[in-house]
Amino acid sequence: MKKSVYSLCGMCAVRCPLRAEVEGDEVTWLEGNPHILGGALCAKGSAGIARYRDDERPHGPLIREGERGEGRWRQVSWDEAITYVTDKLKAIQKKYGKESVMVTSRGGPFQNQYKTFCHAIGSPNYTNHDCTCGRNTHHASKSLYGLGRKGLAYDYKNARHLVLFGRNILTSLKVAEASAVVEMLRRGGKITAVDVRVTPTSGKANRFFLVRPGTDYALALGMVNEMLKQKAYDQKFIKKYVKDFSKLQSFVKPYTAAWAAKECGVDAATIKAFVTDIKQDMPRVIFHPGWNLARYKDSFYVSRMLHIMNILMGNIEVEGGQFFPKSPADCGKKGLRNVDCPKPDIERADGCGSTYPHLDKGPGLEHLLLPPMKTGKPYPIKALISNRHDLMASLPDKEQLLDYLNHCELLVSMDALWGEFTWYCDVVLPESTFLERSNQLVTQKGLKPRFAIRQQAVSPRYDTKPSWEIYKMLADKMGVGEYFPYETIEDYWNWQLEPTGYSIEDFQEKGFVELTDEPVWYDRDKLDGKFKTPSGKIEIISKMLEDAGIESLKPYEPPQAPEKGTFRLVYGRPAWLAHNQSTNNPILSQLTPGNRNNIWINREVAESLGIRNGDWVEVKSAGEYGGPLQAFVTEYIHPEAVYTDHGFGKEVPVQSRAYNKGVSDAKLMTGLLDVWDRAGGAVALCESFVTLSPCEPPADA
Ligand code: SF4
Repeated sequence: MKKSVYSLCGMCAVRCPLRAEVEGDEVTWLEGNPHILGGALCAKGSAGIARYRDDERPHGPLIREGERGEGRWRQVSWDEAITYVTDKLKAIQKKYGKESVMVTSRGGPFQNQYKTFCHAIGSPNYTNHDCTCGRNTHHASKSLYGLGRKGLAYDYKNARHLVLFGRNILTSLKVAEASAVVEMLRRGGKITAVDVRVTPTSGKANRFFLVRPGTDYALALGMVNEMLKQKAYDQKFIKKYVKDFSKLQSFVKPYTAAWAAKECGVDAATIKAFVTDIKQDMPRVIFHPGWNLARYKDSFYVSRMLHIMNILMGNIEVEGGQFFPKSPADCGKKGLRNVDCPKPDIERADGCGSTYPHLDKGPGLEHLLLPPMKTGKPYPIKALISNRHDLMASLPDKEQLLDYLNHCELLVSMDALWGEFTWYCDVVLPESTFLERSNQLVTQKGLKPRFAIRQQAVSPRYDTKPSWEIYKMLADKMGVGEYFPYETIEDYWNWQLEPTGYSIEDFQEKGFVELTDEPVWYDRDKLDGKFKTPSGKIEIISKMLEDAGIESLKPYEPPQAPEKGTFRLVYGRPAWLAHNQSTNNPILSQLTPGNRNNIWINREVAESLGIRNGDWVEVKSAGEYGGPLQAFVTEYIHPEAVYTDHGFGKEVPVQSRAYNKGVSDAKLMTGLLDVWDRAGGAVALCESFVTLSPCEPPADA
């Protein structure tokens, strides 16, 4: 008999609500939760069935037998694997101190269990992948509003104008967000897209600005200058909530539209016409402040300026603008209980919150926790536990990364899939795929906040477990089991729900509990106390930055020009690939021709190099890494840049569909593990250059 199981997708970090149709012990259909998404799910989400049926994933706990990366494993019982890991952790902590353990993850709503474990065993060094993603945006938001990057959300559906600097919102997508943007377009809303290449999002845009790579800050400064000139800003809002507006006025004076045009290549008249246009549309104009903005050396300041343009629009708590995501308390409800443990009273090894007082000590910065493995400064990191996070595929420069990891005495991976880090580590604790596991309940904030559930749809096909159970086992053996006060998932859910007055039965009909019938808006005239800066105002000159000796408004510096014969490498992904997790999926691997990335080359550049569309080209970094990719010759990319999709070039032999297919963008980023932004904290992934030369196709092409 068929049954519906409501759950959350796990094919990317967004976790869209879904409905699985189950017959016997098989999932026969997947769709977006019809009560929230009207059935819509993206291609990756729909391939979730293929993920759980795929046998090219770890089948049970494994302990390494050969050298790291050699692929010789001993399959062991869960008890043996957990005992092995906890004995090693205890020995390392005895020798190097409790703080010598680092726990990392891909972030997301379940990270409090990883963090709780890390803190409970005495280490402050919990981190996540955000240094290669949203840290610049996060810190930019904090410096202005005193709120992290999720402190404000966007009412796309009702916007009149959406401005996207490099945010490929219809491809690098969240289903609800993409649907809202499509609805905005249907209602006559406009998109202005800024990018170094034409994307599916810019294809839908009313205006597209093809900019010289690395000059987004110049364009943003030119726009702000023109906005001030045309008085395209909400004077009442600024007077009431913004501090140091006059400093912004004097700072942007030299950065005219004509000046910006020379830097970024968008002509001055077009910049002026854009500003005239948004003036008509304000306050229902949204400047997206960036999602993955770990791109250029000045991306933090780009994000800051994008936030500032939102502020000029006065678009906070207005329909079609930004809003504070509402919590259960805003609906007069109590929140879910979550596992937690106070952070140990030891400074983080990455210096976040101490050496770098302006950088959030929450998850800190992953790339700064690597050097202490080798240098022992400020103290050694000697054990690393990673949750669903392939460091080798997401951090730049694998060679340099290995140089750090090789000084670690224990590497543990908790993941449902193989990845290069998992293949390299000492112990694999395999997680069940999202259709095979339940997770803790989560709160999804918004205009109509809700509690949501991920429920197991089918039995695990292999000897795998959900992370809540793995952490419970680890915690019990480390003597800190009291921080995980449950035995079963039902215990866990009931414990979480206790303060709320709801029960687990309330989730069965729709897969969520909505905490309000009507959207909750704050009164825009009474936002005092909502901005968490030292002054309580939106700070153009940020006390947090200035106290750390960092400029709030940084003068523009042009990007490094590529040397002759080299091209700036930029990356992205198509709608059917999620970061590093999809190229070996039995279905998704068939959607890219040959399951290899290609390389976009500007038509004039290609002609000058004698490269034709479809030719094979050796793409090489400044280091030793490189390989053959097929050329996609197009006028729709800036001549200084070449572009490739992220997540290819996998070196895990048991992933037969992805093994050695294509070239890894991350490995081409030689030397970038040390190139990071002192102001925003993120690494700068688009600051590498590659060479191109015609070559023979690979033998299996
Ligand atoms: S965006 Fe797609 S892959 Fe990601 S959670 Fe939503 S449906 Fe799943």
